[in-house]
Amino acid sequence: MGRVLKVLLFLSVLSAVYIAYQWRDTFDPAVLSGRRVLVTGASKGIGEQIAYHYARFGSQIVITARTESALKKVAEKCLQLGSPKVWYIPADMSDPEDPNRVLRFALDKLGGIDYLVLNHIGNTFFQMWNGDVEHIRVLMQANFLSYAQMASSGLPFLKQSNGSIIAVSSILAKIPSPFTIPYTATKSAVNGFFGSLQHELSMQKVNVSITLCTLGLIDTETALSKVKGVIDTMSAYPASGAALEIIKGGATRQKEIFYPWYWQLVCAIRDWFPGYRDSVIQSSYKYNP
Ligand code: NAP
Repeated sequence: MGRVLKVLLFLSVLSAVYIAYQWRDTFDPAVLSGRRVLVTGASKGIGEQIAYHYARFGSQIVITARTESALKKVAEKCLQLGSPKVWYIPADMSDPEDPNRVLRFALDKLGGIDYLVLNHIGNTFFQMWNGDVEHIRVLMQANFLSYAQMASSGLPFLKQSNGSIIAVSSILAKIPSPFTIPYTATKSAVNGFFGSLQHELSMQKVNVSITLCTLGLIDTETALSKVKGVIDTMSAYPASGAALEIIKGGATRQKEIFYPWYWQLVCAIRDWFPGYRDSVIQSSYKYNP
């Protein structure tokens, strides 16, 4: 066997071992029993499923979103599924006062916090950018600044509990695509903020973990209604599966999780052939100028 072939074989085996090591399941559901959790954007979609999984694992939960009637229903189902205590608080994260109001409510009800799950997003369009910078400003408050506010105000309490921040982000923050300029800008800000914060907490030896969640297309009503008729080539993965991977990532204190898993590989090779990558992305959109 030639030397090059041996090296390639060795690298392939090494990569396979590394990937298998990374993807091994070390999650123990028992660690979540009785834990104090705040989940944002929990009235529907992935956040709703996150609340249900925490409930099944016996966590105490505070949920928030804008629609009170939906939150009430989710809270009732969480109790049925096994959560010992559930509270809800309607709030609008595009209002700069609300993130800290929600956090104070959660700390008051839960008596502290173990998991801060930042998942909500404000409404935006899925189309060519119309030049509306004001929309980006509003969306930045809802999708990013509120995350930074809650992480910052929650940090002293998470330090007390050696707790975790889970920030739900998107593959678009790593591989930008058309039709999502304001959304992608806000998710890139989320990645930058929490990526840097991970370093700083580690350098300060603070035992608070941060899990960044990189999600592909998930079958929530919001996402499917936006891509319908524009992107037909991509499969949407189940919200319940995404929610479980998000929770597992937080509980096992992973720095980052990918769902579905193959996005981790795509990210690893995304810059090898940028011209080809971009033409594949653009040709997956139905668009006639
Ligand atoms: P979704 O179904 O639209 O749910 C969004 C949640 O945020 C709802 O509970 C909504 O409830 C709440 N919300 C909306 N505007 C709000 C505001 N101004 N203030 C407070 N809460 C607000 O979204 P999703 O698809 O589940 O997405 C959840 C997370 O996954 C997001 O961070 C998203 O970026 C990420 N993600 C999703 C996909 C996907 O394909 N679905 C892909 C990548 C990443 P109310 O309307 O009652 O306020």
